[in-house]
Amino acid sequence: MIIAIDGPAGAGKGTLSKLLADYLGYPYLDTGALYRATALSFIKNAADPEDPTVAKSTVESIIIDMIDGDDLRTSEVTLASSKIAAIPAVRAALLDYQRKFAHRPPGAILDGRDITTVVVPEANVKLFVTALLEVRALRRYQELLDRGEVSIYDKVLTEIKTRDEQDKTRTSAPMRKADDAIEIDTSYLKPLGVLRIALNIISRRQKENFKILSL
Ligand code: C5P
Repeated sequence: MIIAIDGPAGAGKGTLSKLLADYLGYPYLDTGALYRATALSFIKNAADPEDPTVAKSTVESIIIDMIDGDDLRTSEVTLASSKIAAIPAVRAALLDYQRKFAHRPPGAILDGRDITTVVVPEANVKLFVTALLEVRALRRYQELLDRGEVSIYDKVLTEIKTRDEQDKTRTSAPMRKADDAIEIDTSYLKPLGVLRIALNIISRRQKENFKILSL
């Protein structure tokens, strides 16, 4: 079973994906981390992200080497990731890896901005996880404080707004809710409440699939 989750920054996609991965025992791919690692690599090597050959070799080097770490979460890398994510050559270079990850048995959970619409539109379960802008900003602000970073709420709010705008309006794979994705608004929910809703949706979908198979 492939579970695809999209939504804006701070909506709780990552938290839900990790809980689902633990609960179901499926591997999880945080595709935002791929874009962040790619952005960091471009910054470090001062490479040209518009060049398809450079984009491909950069992507190949990051997937093997470095996919996590606090240096992927800085403001500079966050904003750069959204910028390079608008470049078709970068998206194309990352697509194959994400699709292969999704289709490996027994299944997978992927979250991002174009998972339900471009990466695996054929996913068995498609969710669009969202929340009010102010709530998302507050969560990100709290996350930064918890990590011991100095942060200003208004700055975090502006950064999230800028990123929402960039991610929604780019021409290549913009963030949008797929027509057949189910929306979950997490504004007033705790992580376990969101998990419960998602598990209900998944179990409904499994029953529907079972019915189709047994016809
Ligand atoms: O999810 P996260 O906030 O870590 O993603 C960082 C940036 O990567 C996003 O703002 C977006 O521009 C880009 N991204 C994307 N497509 C994805 C995942 C992330 O364009 N599937």
